[in-house]
Amino acid sequence: MEHSTPRVVVVTGAGTGIGRATAQAFATCGYAVVAVGRRAAPLVETAVGRPGVTPLTADVTAPDGPGMIVREALARYGRLDMLVNNAGVAGGGPLAELDEDAARRQLETNLLGPIRLAHAALPALTEARGVIVNVTTSVGARASPGSSVYAGGKAALDSLTRSWAVELVPRGIRVVAVAPGAIDTPIGEHSGLSPERRAAVRDWQLAHTPAGRIGRPEDVAWAILRLCEPEADFVTGVVLPVDGGAVVA
Ligand code: NAP
Repeated sequence: MEHSTPRVVVVTGAGTGIGRATAQAFATCGYAVVAVGRRAAPLVETAVGRPGVTPLTADVTAPDGPGMIVREALARYGRLDMLVNNAGVAGGGPLAELDEDAARRQLETNLLGPIRLAHAALPALTEARGVIVNVTTSVGARASPGSSVYAGGKAALDSLTRSWAVELVPRGIRVVAVAPGAIDTPIGEHSGLSPERRAAVRDWQLAHTPAGRIGRPEDVAWAILRLCEPEADFVTGVVLPVDGGAVVA
């Protein structure tokens, strides 16, 4: 019987929410997963009972974070086929109340992180004829009063997705983005929103989601996985909303 090496995927922000569901879905399908985040405990929980998942504590904003992540993946598995740029921080506020440090941190995580990681992974992804998946947001395609820096950073990542898709075709690399709508994850807590504010955001999201429900992390993981499959070989440069119809309503 022929044994092929499993395909290897790096998922950032894999300790919670969408990243955890994505890492676990890849593992269930037989991929080897490097699960990245800053805190070890949630990553270990993601990996429980899944020997295909290797937790890796790393910060995508650290000077050598992206380089270290790629080196560790290659040291562990000898190849890298897919990069899922999922780590992100939300929050923000109106322009009139700009917190410059918070804005910088957000752009360093949500925009510069994926850029630096994609750059660090380029040689390995070229060798594997791999896939980059950027996790953006459906609000990146619309006005987002009160969280313009978040939406703007994600919209820039949508744009990078299109440019990289064309730029990297000669290397055999596909680049796609998945743009979630309202998904049930701890992102509100992680962004420091009060329980009242989180409830208000949730009510607004529900009212503006034609599907009439909040999404599950697994809804997004499903889309990421499908876009990484070899059958998706003719799909590149797209931003796929996974949002219950919110962006087109
Ligand atoms: P989440 O549960 O807060 O997940 C974000 C993860 O990123 C956390 O596990 C966090 O873990 C990790 N992270 C943050 N900064 C990092 C850094 N510098 N280096 C490495 N890891 C870092 O939220 P989520 O909803 O699943 O979000 C996943 C992605 O989906 C984000 O990009 C978010 O913008 C996007 N999104 C979410 C929604 C939604 O409704 N939930 C909607 C649209 C888009 P550590 O703190 O341990 O590092």
